[in-house]
Order: sequence, then structure tokens, then C-alpha cells
Amino acid sequence: MTMDGVFDTLRTLQDVLTEKISLENEVRESPKALESQEDVLEHYKKNFIEKNRDYEKARNANAEYINQIFEAEKSREEAEKKMELLTSARESEALQKEITVAKEKETQSRKAHQREEKYVAELKTEMDEMHNNIALQEKELAERKSKINLEIAEKNQRIGELNAQEQELIPDLDPDVLFKFERIVKNKMGKGIVAIHGGVCTGCYMVLPVQFANEVRAGEDVIFCPYCSRILFYEETDDKENFFDDADLGSLVDIDDMDEDEEDEEEEEDINIDFED
Ligand SMILES: [Zn+2]
Repeated sequence: MTMDGVFDTLRTLQDVLTEKISLENEVRESPKALESQEDVLEHYKKNFIEKNRDYEKARNANAEYINQIFEAEKSREEAEKKMELLTSARESEALQKEITVAKEKETQSRKAHQREEKYVAELKTEMDEMHNNIALQEKELAERKSKINLEIAEKNQRIGELNAQEQELIPDLDPDVLFKFERIVKNKMGKGIVAIHGGVCTGCYMVLPVQFANEVRAGEDVIFCPYCSRILFYEETDDKENFFDDADLGSLVDIDDMDEDEEDEEEEEDINIDFED
């Protein structure tokens, strides 16, 4: 294969790899989009369980008040019955007191019952709302989930196609070149093959040694940038770019290089050592 052919293959492979890597990231990340909604739903369910506990408690209390009313009524009625059969004034007095106490108890229990009944109804309304909300959230979440699963299936299918393309391209390339190239595309999430313009690597904007730039121009071998490890190819540029002001370029280089160096220092050293071998 000609060098132009190798460069073309590498560029095609680069497109395949970047698309594949980005899809793989999406497949890995997309279920996380549901996490916050799942947390919210869990929280709603927990609140519902707590509310239900309050509701059961209130219903039991209410039943107890109803029972108390019933008991108070019963003792009042019994006292009233006894009253009808009575002769002595003294017994009458004691029974009258019993009736009064029973009536008071009945009134109190009735008030408590009314209060509790209202509370039970409030809780029931709240619980119905919570229940509807949970059902709605569950439905929404299930819909989002199936949509995401569908997207993941589509992405996985596309990844499969890209893997097949990758396998077709790989046999045409030197394994050592391929290894370094794939690594640089993965690490830098993008360009593994860049042009040199006026002796400058357009990947890292470092000025290359003249001899080195000439070798790239000769195009007899695959050459890696000594600074950023990308594969270099020669590209004709117009005059404007060839006479690019060095001072301007210098300032650009500094900014661009600073963070790139920090991020990839170790990785690049590695690659450079390999390269020298
Ligand atoms: Zn470079």
C-alpha cells in the first residue's frame, strides 16, 4: 500500500474509532440519567409507607374513640334504666352522677372521634395523591427506561457495525503503528493523524525540527510527532499559513500545550519510549 493509502486508511479508522468510543461512553453513561428519578421515586415510596403508618395509627385511635362513645352510651342508658326503677333519693343521686359522668365521657369521646375522623380523611386524601404521584412517576420512569434501552440497543448495533469496519481496516496496517495510533485516538479522544503546516504539527502546534519535517514531507514512512505522538502527514498549505507570524503562534502554543502536557505527560513519555525502541 502507498503511504497515501496508509494515511487514508488511518483517517477512516480514526473516524470509526472516535464514533465507536463515543457510542461506548454513551451506552455506559445513559442508565445513569435515570438514577436521580429513581432516587426521587424511592423517596416518594418511603414517604408513602410512613404516611400509611400514621394513617393506620389514626384509624385505630378513631376506632377506640368510637368504642368509648359506645361504652359511655351503654353505661348512661343502664343508669337511666335503673333510675326508672328507683325509690330512694340517695340512690337516685348516685345514679344521676353516673349519668352525668357518662354523658361527659360521651361528649369528650365524640369530639375526639370527630377530630380523629377528620385527620383520617386528611391522611387518606394525602395518601391518594401520593399514590397517584408514585404511579405517574413509575410510568414515566418505565417509559424513559424502555426508550433508553432502545437507544442502547441501537447504539450497540452501530458499535457492532463499527467493529466490523475496524476489522476490515486493521489487516492493512502495520501492527506497531496500529497499536500506537489506536492508543493516541483513545487517549486524546480524536485526532491520531494530523497534518504538518509550515513545519508545525497541527496536533500540538509545536515547531518540528527541519530535518524531521523534511522526512514527513518525503512521505516514505509513518512518522510520529515527537511531542504529541500523533502520526504526521505532509499537506500543501497556502502562503498565508506558511508565513504565519511566529510570535502569534508562540502564544497559542504556550496556552494549548500547558494543559495538554499536564494531562498526557505520562502517556506521552510511554509512547515516545516505545517509539525510540
Ligand atoms: Zn504534535
